[in-house]
Amino acid sequence: MNVLEERVLKDGVVKEGNVLKVDSFLNHQCDVELFGEMADEWVRRFSGKKINKVLTIEASGIGMACITAQKLHCPVVFAKKSKSINIDGDMYITEVESFTHKETNQVIVSKKFLGEDDRVLIIDDFLANGAALQGLISIVNQAGGRVEGIGIAIEKGFQPGGKFIRNLGYQLESLVIVDSMDWTTGSIVLRKQD
Ligand code: 5GP
Repeated sequence: MNVLEERVLKDGVVKEGNVLKVDSFLNHQCDVELFGEMADEWVRRFSGKKINKVLTIEASGIGMACITAQKLHCPVVFAKKSKSINIDGDMYITEVESFTHKETNQVIVSKKFLGEDDRVLIIDDFLANGAALQGLISIVNQAGGRVEGIGIAIEKGFQPGGKFIRNLGYQLESLVIVDSMDWTTGSIVLRKQD
């Protein structure tokens, strides 16, 4: 069992509506030592790839993406969420429906920071239905870059995103896969991984 799996079982809190709260170590208070170990694992799993940029989406992905980018000696770009439609032509734009807030945001990245030479590792905290990842993949495609891999902290394996993204042919590496969880009992069952 890896360190993130242990931490999810110890400190993860299951909420109604298929939401797993990991506020105490991942997306409110951040355990930076843990981020370092997660980054080491992603670097190991993507060691065959020539990555020159890490891409994530604000806000919760930024911390772990920064530590990963530091280990890969490359910049990190985070896609910004924006409700306004008043955006000029210097941006790649896509729409993403938020799983947790049930609203649609425009997600934007400046054309200055992503282009056809970029070989991108996408990092995010959660994978549920896959909307956030599809948005980030679309942005890399608009830029003419290449998605070399996708690193996710926690995949909820009972939701369709992981299967969908893997079926598109991407190397998707989730450090934790939750097979089931139950907010009435607080139980969390993880998928065994090698
Ligand atoms: P998706 O777009 O794959 O449906 O959902 C992924 C996004 O929704 C992540 O970026 C994350 O911010 C949020 N999210 C999805 N499920 C959960 C969850 O169970 N807990 C938390 N804290 N965030 C989630």
